[in-house]
Amino acid sequence: MSTDEFRAKALAWLQQNAKPFDENSQGSSATLEESKAFQKGLWEAGLAGITWPKEYGGQGLGTAEQLAFNEVAADFRMPVGPFVIGLGMPAPTLLEFGTEEQKKRYIPPMLRGDEIWSQLFSEPSGGSDVASLQTSAVRVEDGWLINGQKVWTSGAQFSDYGAVLVRTDPTRPKHQGLTMFIVDLHHPGVTVRPLVVATGDAPFNEVFFDDVHVPEDAVIGEVNNGWAVAVAMLRYERVTIGTGVRARANPLGYDALVELVRARGLDGDPTVRRVLAQVAARESAMRSYSAVLHQEAKAGLPIGARGSAAKLAGAVFPLWVSDLVQEIFGEELALQTPDMLPLARSILAAPGGATAGGSNEIQRNIIAERVLGLPKDAGVDKNVPFNQLKLSK
Ligand SMILES: Cc1cc2nc3c(=O)[nH]c(=O)nc-3n(C[C@H](O)[C@H](O)[C@H](O)COP(=O)(O)OP(=O)(O)OC[C@H]3O[C@@H](n4cnc5c(N)ncnc54)[C@H](O)[C@@H]3O)c2cc1C
Repeated sequence: MSTDEFRAKALAWLQQNAKPFDENSQGSSATLEESKAFQKGLWEAGLAGITWPKEYGGQGLGTAEQLAFNEVAADFRMPVGPFVIGLGMPAPTLLEFGTEEQKKRYIPPMLRGDEIWSQLFSEPSGGSDVASLQTSAVRVEDGWLINGQKVWTSGAQFSDYGAVLVRTDPTRPKHQGLTMFIVDLHHPGVTVRPLVVATGDAPFNEVFFDDVHVPEDAVIGEVNNGWAVAVAMLRYERVTIGTGVRARANPLGYDALVELVRARGLDGDPTVRRVLAQVAARESAMRSYSAVLHQEAKAGLPIGARGSAAKLAGAVFPLWVSDLVQEIFGEELALQTPDMLPLARSILAAPGGATAGGSNEIQRNIIAERVLGLPKDAGVDKNVPFNQLKLSK
């Protein structure tokens, strides 16, 4: 099938199964069951895991097909939110580090929408310095016992599995005693408590582990080599966040803003037109950068710190647009009129993007050290055994 035929197939399926972006569909949200059914439909239509190997449920196609899909999908509301983390981060990490059994067991159900995954790195003692985490796993006769607490875990309240980074050897320096486990989040020792934010949603959770038993074959990669697995997962996270499909339905994106501006007769105002032109230009630059990174990743070229540049751009953009639209729409943003509500909610959610997936400061540090070649952080605790460090609780 040529790329054009694939694009036509994707478009036909989306026209039948997804709502196009238009004013009437703004603000509608799908239930978890609807999301699962949609993901299953995508997979059955050959539109999920487009570039992934066939033996693990993927389609075995190339970047051209992925980009063609992204292009047509941007015009539709796709209720795939619950799968973004699993398919964006744990799944590619499993493809890179997992055993054959793990790949065959876990990737197809994720692609089919049957199982949802979370990523559990951050802890109350700090998220930027992930390697200082305190949740531990100790060896028992038939596997490991996990105890501790994670926080900010997106989607844990509806997830089935988590990729959980824990400390397995506190006598080693902080980066060297970590291990990544696959944990069944329905285990009776796992408690998930949703955290409600300013928008009224509960996008993330606290997750507590009390004597959670995991078998030996739940280790992703090698015991005490979890840092390498975590670094890979964070790299996938940056690329996923920074290069995600920018749907027309994004309330802070150009298309949605143009509709709001037109509805208010502001489209003739030269200042508004200049702002919209700037938004369109930045959006287009980010889309092109995403396309390049996708193509290079597929060709096996290292994305490295450019994933941080994409993530930073994706986090700065909504904050920047938030300021601009407040100048255009002013008080009307607070009135919660139906067409303004999605925009108001996106403005409230924008600062979260500057923290999620590694804060803007951390991305800037990475770019400074690895792209600009500036001196590295001193890392005074880097070689000290973890159990000799003074820890914040
Ligand atoms: C919407 C959202 C979703 C999230 N989802 C998940 C998830 O699913 N799984 C998960 O594990 N985590 C998740 N997180 C957590 C996120 O990864 C952390 O919040 C983030 O890494 C920062 O950690 P922290 O909040 O502990 O802040 P801290 O690490 O305590 O940092 C506090 C401040 O200090 C700055 N800072 C820290 N260190 C440095 C430094 N070396 N140089 C310069 N500045 C520094 C930071 O930029 C920040 O402004 C999510 C967060 C958000 C907001």
